[in-house]
Amino acid sequence: MAAQEIPLGYEAKLLNRVEVAEDTMAFHFEKPPGFEFRPGQSSDLTLVNPPESDSEGNVRTFSIASAPFEDRLMFATRMRETAFKRSLKPMPIGTAVKVEPATGSFTLNKASAKPAVLLAGGIGITPFFSIVKQADHERLPHELHLFYSNRRPEDAPFLESLDDLEKRNPNFHLIATMSEIRSSERK
Ligand SMILES: Cc1cc2nc3c(=O)[nH]c(=O)nc-3n(C[C@H](O)[C@H](O)[C@H](O)COP(=O)(O)OP(=O)(O)OC[C@H]3O[C@@H](n4cnc5c(N)ncnc54)[C@H](O)[C@@H]3O)c2cc1C
Repeated sequence: MAAQEIPLGYEAKLLNRVEVAEDTMAFHFEKPPGFEFRPGQSSDLTLVNPPESDSEGNVRTFSIASAPFEDRLMFATRMRETAFKRSLKPMPIGTAVKVEPATGSFTLNKASAKPAVLLAGGIGITPFFSIVKQADHERLPHELHLFYSNRRPEDAPFLESLDDLEKRNPNFHLIATMSEIRSSERK
């Protein structure tokens, strides 16, 4: 008898999708019971029976952009023309994906005495968004300096939320830079 495959990972249903910057979408999933993670960690997301696939397969690693205190799992990604993303983008609400247990040590140092300097460009903001939200929620004493570079504000996921977080958390400092502000529509 063939050995039974032991299902690893969790099932998570799509709740919502939101455009968070130009060509950039956030996908909100139900947080599966028992799914735990530390801010900054990532998870492998598998599309189950997607309408199309290619040699890169149906799995991508994404940083978890939501914070542990939030009741949803959020992933955000630039919407490139790959089979994976063409399948993810129109996925009907309620569709289940597989998420593996969170991994990674890209997390905030427990020692709060040293200021943390965080450097992000574009979609690289995802782990830091989780870290900064959780730090605010827990009122952590860490001084956080986030340098966040994008071409234009419209390319910058979560910029407004980060701005709001900076306004209410005196320990959080956002240094947002735009390298092509002249091409912005939001001047
Ligand atoms: C720990 C970790 C966390 C991650 N977190 C995120 C996240 O939060 N959000 C996110 O969007 N992605 C994240 N990624 C990257 C993600 O796993 C995918 O690789 C990425 O989104 C590209 O997927 P794709 O389907 O567009 O391209 P793929 O089909 O995976 O790539 C096809 C090929 O295209 C090339 N390619 C793809 N993208 C680029 C590019 N930008 N520039 C040049 N060549 C490219 C590569 O050579 C690749 O072999 C993370 C990866 C890791 C390891």
